[in-house]
Amino acid sequence: MAASPKIPLLGLTFQELSAVVQQQKEPEYRARQLFEAIYSHRLPSLELISTLPRRFRSALQEQGMEVSPAQIQKSFPSVDGTIRYLVEMFDGESVETVWMPEGDGGEAADGSEAGDEIAEAGFDRATICVSSQMGCAVNCQFCLTAQLGVKRNLTAGEIVGQVIAVLNDRRVDMERQRINIVFMGMGEPFLNYWEFMKAVRLLVEGVGFSESRMTVSTSGIVPRIHDFGSEPVRPKLAISLNAPNDQLRERIMPLNRKWNLDKLMQAARDFPLRNRERITFEYVLLRDFNDRKEHAREVVEMLRGIRCKVNLIALNPGPGIAFATPEEQQVHDFQQDLIRAGIPAFVRRPRGRDIYAACGQLKRTVA
Ligand code: SAH
Ligand code: SF4
Repeated sequence: MAASPKIPLLGLTFQELSAVVQQQKEPEYRARQLFEAIYSHRLPSLELISTLPRRFRSALQEQGMEVSPAQIQKSFPSVDGTIRYLVEMFDGESVETVWMPEGDGGEAADGSEAGDEIAEAGFDRATICVSSQMGCAVNCQFCLTAQLGVKRNLTAGEIVGQVIAVLNDRRVDMERQRINIVFMGMGEPFLNYWEFMKAVRLLVEGVGFSESRMTVSTSGIVPRIHDFGSEPVRPKLAISLNAPNDQLRERIMPLNRKWNLDKLMQAARDFPLRNRERITFEYVLLRDFNDRKEHAREVVEMLRGIRCKVNLIALNPGPGIAFATPEEQQVHDFQQDLIRAGIPAFVRRPRGRDIYAACGQLKRTVA
């Protein structure tokens, strides 16, 4: 007999869980119990939700309902403490999620300075990098994920499921540890906008993340940047700039033909920033392509008047990528040129390169 299709509860809003409860003719307050068990207590299976009566749990199970659609299949630890997880979904397909613990000081994976925070002894900080799609369709020429093409969008439950799987694996205590989320894994979040935003709301309302601890990176899907600006609850915005002019950007990011730098910069200028908030621009440095002095000058001109900062990322190389990584001195000079022009610029240090976990390296590498 074929197994009945599995239906995840994780990914449902409180209202949607209320509908499930109603359908089972259970009292209304069970919806709150379910919501809390799944999102705040992060219980991985119905058996463990002991606040619910057994008959209710069995009824849900008989209908194929399970808690999470995301299970850790394999993990790859790096020498630097980073862990790359292969997370499997109900259809047998998997995505990657990366755990990056932060040491004392230095720069967090989202580019924020540790100095921003009040130093507290024994306080744990880490960043989880989450995927939004299986593969990616944007086809940036420096990115390994692009080589997969796009298989499908992830559901909100599959996005939140990655976070919960990693929080549980690392035994995170949300009250005591400071965890950031960056939507910078596989895929283009703004091409899966509604599920991505639903996941954000569940992470805030259910799991207990504040919006200021989340950052989403987009390659520049201009209409969604406008939509995103009017969301009442939203992560911080990062934009993958990667080039100083249209001519170069078109060569490495085909989407620039649809949304060129004029349009992108207009969207950035129009973006309603919160108090003290800045837009982050990511810039992948490719040797002799976009890393010269004149390029830094063009970037400075382009960003004039935008409240922003720049995260520089020296290319993480990989098979089939036709670019090279610049010398450290070149990266440093580029950074200094921006800083001298008054633009805060940081160099994102590569995390987990040895296990193919660094930016642009997520390709479901199994070794
Ligand atoms: N798709 C979204 C988010 C995921 S990519 C986006 O592109 O913004 C996260 C960041 O990694 C992007 O800024 C991207 O430009 C960068 N990146 C991609 N491939 C890279 C590589 N090989 N080396 C360094 N950074 C890379
Ligand atoms: Fe997709 Fe981002 Fe990679 Fe471009 S850099 S192919 S948008 S994941």
